[in-house]
Amino acid sequence: MYDCIIIGTGPAGLSAAINLKTYNKDFVWFGTKNLSNKVIKAEKVVNYPGFPEVTGAELNDRFKAHIESQNIEITEKTVTNVMAAGDYYMVLADNEIYEAKTLILAMGVMAARLLDGEEKLLGRGVSYCATCDGRLYQGKKIAVICNDPKFEHEVLYLADLAAEVYYFPTFESDVKGDNITISKDAPMKITGESKVESLVLRSGEEICLDGVFCLRNAITPTHLIPGIQIEDGHIAVDRKMETNLKGCFACGDCTGRPYQYTKAVGEGNVAAHGVVEFLAE
Ligand SMILES: Cc1cc2nc3c(=O)[nH]c(=O)nc-3n(C[C@H](O)[C@H](O)[C@H](O)COP(=O)(O)OP(=O)(O)OC[C@H]3O[C@@H](n4cnc5c(N)ncnc54)[C@H](O)[C@@H]3O)c2cc1C
Repeated sequence: MYDCIIIGTGPAGLSAAINLKTYNKDFVWFGTKNLSNKVIKAEKVVNYPGFPEVTGAELNDRFKAHIESQNIEITEKTVTNVMAAGDYYMVLADNEIYEAKTLILAMGVMAARLLDGEEKLLGRGVSYCATCDGRLYQGKKIAVICNDPKFEHEVLYLADLAAEVYYFPTFESDVKGDNITISKDAPMKITGESKVESLVLRSGEEICLDGVFCLRNAITPTHLIPGIQIEDGHIAVDRKMETNLKGCFACGDCTGRPYQYTKAVGEGNVAAHGVVEFLAE
C-alpha cells in the first residue's frame, strides 16, 4: 500500500510530487511523461516568478528536468475509477488496481462537454474503459468517441471484439479495420431508457447501437470518485486542500479559478503538506 496516489502531471501534481519526495513518502504518480499540454501550448508565460519571458514548452522542459533530478517516476496510465475503502483508497488505472492511504487529485479541468444522455446511461451501455468493459460487447455494434491518439490501441482492441465500430476521433486518425467506420460527424446525444439504444449526430443521423465508449484524457471528478463534493463545478476543498473525503486532497484547476500555474503549484504544495500531516496523525 502506497502512502499516496497523485492523479495528474500538470503543475499542481508536479508540485505535490516534488514535496512528497522531499518528505520521503512512498507514492505513485499517474499521468503522462509529457506532463501537461496546457503548459506546452502556452506561447509565452509572463507571470511565473523568476522566469519573466519563458515559453510554455521551455517551462515544461524545466519541470521535466526537475523531476529527473529528483528521480521521480511517472506511471503513464489514465485513472478511470477511485473507490474509498474505509481508511484507504483503491484506484483503477488502465485496468490495474493500486491502493494508497491518501489521494491527491490534480487532474486539471476537463474541456470536453459530456454528451446528452451520457451521464444517465453510464454503466448501462456507456463506458469510459475499453479494457474493463470491452468483452461485454463481443459481436455487438458500438461507437467509440476518442479525443487523444494515445487511446487508439484501445479502439483496435474494441474492434477485435465488436462486430461493428463507428469511430469518432477529434483528430486526424489513420486507424484501419474491416469493421471500423471513421466519421467526422460530431456525436451529440446518446439515447435509451434502461440501456443505450442509439447515438444521434450533429447531421441528424441516428445510429442504432449496443454501446458507446468515451475514451477521453480526462474524466469529471464525480465520475472518477463517487461522493466527492462539488461547488460551482469544481472540487470543494478546505484551506489544507482536503476534500469532503478524509485523506483525499485536491489542487490546481480542478479546485477552481483562477486557472493559473502559480495557483496550481501553490495548492500542490499545500496538498502535499496536508498528506504528510494526515499520515503522521
Ligand atoms: C494555451 C494556454 C495558455 C496558458 N497560459 C497561462 C499563463 O501564461 N499563465 C498561467 O498562469 N496560466 C496559464 N494557463 C493556465 C494553466 O495552463 C493551468 O492553470 C495549469 O496548467 C493548471 O495546472 P493543473 O496541474 O491544475 O492541471 P493541468 O495542467 O491541466 O494538468 C492536469 C494533468 O492531469 C492529467 N490527467 C487528467 N485526468 C487524468 C486521469 N484520470 N488519469 C491520469 N492523468 C490525468 C492530464 O492529462 C494533465 O496532464 C494557460 C492555459 C492554456 C490552455
